[in-house]
Amino acid sequence: MIKRFIRRVFGLRQDAAQRSPRSKHGLPREAISHGALKVCDVLQDAGFAAYVVGGAVRDLLLGIEPKDFDVATDARPEEIKPLFRRALIIGRRFRLVHVMVGRETVETSTFRAAGNDTTDAAAGEARRLHDEHGRVLRDNVFGTMAEDARRRDFTVNALYFDPASEMIVDYHGGLADLKKRVLRVIGDPAMRYREDPVRMLRAVRLAAKLGLTIDPATRAPIRRLAPLMERVPPARLFDEMLKLLLSGHASACLRQLRDEGLHHGVLPLLDVILEQPLGERFVTLALAQTDERVRTDRPVSPAFLFAALLWHEVLATWRAREKRGERAIPALEAAMDNVLDAQCEKLAITRRLTATMREIWSMQPRFEQRSNIRAQRLLEAPRFRMAYDFLALRAASGEVPAELETWWRAFQNAEPATRKAMLMPETAPKKKRRRRRRKKPASAGGAAESA
Ligand code: ATP
Ligand code: MG
Repeated sequence: MIKRFIRRVFGLRQDAAQRSPRSKHGLPREAISHGALKVCDVLQDAGFAAYVVGGAVRDLLLGIEPKDFDVATDARPEEIKPLFRRALIIGRRFRLVHVMVGRETVETSTFRAAGNDTTDAAAGEARRLHDEHGRVLRDNVFGTMAEDARRRDFTVNALYFDPASEMIVDYHGGLADLKKRVLRVIGDPAMRYREDPVRMLRAVRLAAKLGLTIDPATRAPIRRLAPLMERVPPARLFDEMLKLLLSGHASACLRQLRDEGLHHGVLPLLDVILEQPLGERFVTLALAQTDERVRTDRPVSPAFLFAALLWHEVLATWRAREKRGERAIPALEAAMDNVLDAQCEKLAITRRLTATMREIWSMQPRFEQRSNIRAQRLLEAPRFRMAYDFLALRAASGEVPAELETWWRAFQNAEPATRKAMLMPETAPKKKRRRRRRKKPASAGGAAESA
């Protein structure tokens, strides 16, 4: 205990932290979630230091409701866990504790020094060392509070709020930056981006989400270092892109990504899409719709969004294959494979998502068939609603006639009798077809009855 106390005091002295009382920053204890308060109180009662830290403090100071609350402490995972009834130690390389309080999960991590977690691990040397030696270096993993602040990405993300005293501990001028509404990297920007290129993406995302200006020195190296994004593992890139796309500010983020030259290699599809007028309109509409849904707290489907972002890639590949003489449906299937293969190399879109994306895409040609049983079957398909929304987007962007979308909208909302009247005659009146059709109604009728 005494050692810990000395370490804490020592840590603070070393890095000249600013301590601001509530009268200066205005953040009250009551702003903190029930769970995070509980975690801090219990840890402090047990003699540990405990602070709410990171995105939550930053968001609260900006008047934004935080998504979740993280706690940082000098207690080790094995010291944290027994203090709570429901707590789980998670993570292999860097272990942290998920404390469950009611329905809330509070991510509780021990102060740590740079280069020891997966987010900092992009620096090849450091990562190899830790990959191979794993927990042998455990004692090096943990650090002082000052080191914990130092390894964070932006000054506004390194604010520590103590709910007991309502003090904010600020090592890197984050409070002043918040006031000036500036996003600034802690330390040398180029170096910090080399350590972890994802920080460039985070800069763009956080600036757009929070309405902050990226400090010139923080911004300057991004264009030059953008190619480093190539080194980011696809799974991690996917997580970050998903966060960005579902931030409620996707349009602004992507515009900024393009301005910073960061879309190259991040989403290769954007390179293509942003250059074709039809595709750009489509993507713009999809993103605006998503942002609107996020901001009004309506559910958003990542699969739908990725399907939209990649649609014009699929479309172009599909058309090219058709031109080479392939039949429509196999050509579409092959085009989907081509596009997903190319994308997943860079961006590990999860399997579950790609399955839904395929469904959305492969249902699109079926909207052209407005006759009889086919329309009815499409209507009953499990993903009909999503596929229809996708069609609506295609119509709105001018890719397909608006009339097609209006018809389907009316069709799905119509009474069964009206529906029947809306159906169109079969469009391919070839002799052979007709003969086959005569057989169909019988079996189709049977299927409908048994369904
Ligand atoms: P969000 O609003 O998206 O949750 P956030 O800043 O809270 O934004 P998280 O990914 O939840 O983002 O990260 C929590 C904290 O961890 C950050 O505030 C920051 O202090 C630190 N952090 C996250 N990613 C990095 C990184 N790549 N490099 C350094 N520090 C990071
Ligand atoms: Mg967060």
